[in-house]
Amino acid sequence: MSETSVQVPDATGHFGQFGGMFVPETLMAPLQELADEYERARADPEFHRELEDLLRNYCGRPTPLYFAERWTEMLGGARIYLKREDLLHTGAHKINNAIGQALLAKRLGKKRIIAETGAGQHGVATATVCARFGLECVVYMGAVDMERQALNVARMELLGAEVRPVTAGQATLKEAVNEAMRDWVASVETTHYILGSALGSHPFPMMVRDFHRVIGLEARAQIMEREGRLPDLLVACVGGGSNAIGLFHPFLGDGAVRMVGVEAGGEGIRPEKHAARFQGGKLGVLQGTKTWLLADDDGQIELTHSVSAGLDYAAIGPEHAYLHDLGRVEYTYATDDDALAAFREVSRTEGILPALESAHAMAYVSKVAGDLPPSAIIIANMSGRGDKDVEQAAKYLLGPQRQGD
Ligand SMILES: *Cc1c(COP(=O)(O)O)cnc(C)c1O
Repeated sequence: MSETSVQVPDATGHFGQFGGMFVPETLMAPLQELADEYERARADPEFHRELEDLLRNYCGRPTPLYFAERWTEMLGGARIYLKREDLLHTGAHKINNAIGQALLAKRLGKKRIIAETGAGQHGVATATVCARFGLECVVYMGAVDMERQALNVARMELLGAEVRPVTAGQATLKEAVNEAMRDWVASVETTHYILGSALGSHPFPMMVRDFHRVIGLEARAQIMEREGRLPDLLVACVGGGSNAIGLFHPFLGDGAVRMVGVEAGGEGIRPEKHAARFQGGKLGVLQGTKTWLLADDDGQIELTHSVSAGLDYAAIGPEHAYLHDLGRVEYTYATDDDALAAFREVSRTEGILPALESAHAMAYVSKVAGDLPPSAIIIANMSGRGDKDVEQAAKYLLGPQRQGD
């Protein structure tokens, strides 16, 4: 891959034909202001110094690159390394982005933060950094999700955030994003919107990616130290695509490194039963960006399903659409059942409960590692910990066994 293809997006946020700025007129100027401030921050050593200090001492970076010895032995093929983003403060990669954007909000002089959240993970990360910086925090969350994720709602409230229920439509993530956008249109003078994935209008997909690149940069240095060479395969789950692009991006120029993004196959590839945008999706515009999404023949956004809320979204980040078009990254899917089986496998062989999102990446590793030679090296991103999913996993994995007791 040439250097130029790594140098996306362009000044208006285009990754090839994808991305861009599909927002109401009132947001164009503030988004440009955000992009300009981000460019200044990116060139400012003081910004990097402060960010690095927080990532190290507040968030817990660098995260380990852990050799999964027992799992490798069990699968009998490639050497499997796990990038332990699950060990970060608040339990997932999301804090990398939330902390970076909070620093930007400070530079912009904005004292109020809004965010959207599905399962609550991004809401918790945002509420956390707002407490840390003394910023007012409002999190929009679908009423249905609030009920399903009551623990995360309580976490956000304990951190001092206001959680606003959204009751429109399906009352889940898509509606929460709409509501956050509506707030922002009215409040943009005083308010920064901390978007939670590599999605939405420019400059968010680029900015969120850059804040997560630390995952790939660390992994690269760590594998060179451990193995003296680059990995053969990188694997990550893809919701909006932030943990995946963070791991992949620093390796894009290394042609010999294969990369696989794993989407949510839900109950199988049938309308409304999955969230795998590259399985029957189409080109369209949703919530600020042009990308691959799941829509019906009239262009109506389809319902989606996944056992993991973090992967349950109708659109994929525009840079992934671009990398898919280029053929640089391969995309596949794991079903709910595949992910749950991998959840059990990794828990029992390694003593690590993966987030159900991360378990989708683990499912792919479980499928292919045994067919690769023992000399091969895989790095899989453990994007988050499974504590939040214990109830759900127990229902599926312990239910029948308990009944049999
Ligand atoms: C939110 C989340 C994801 C999905 O989001 P991406 O932007 O695709 O990374 C994956 N894993 C965990 C643990 C999450 O919390």
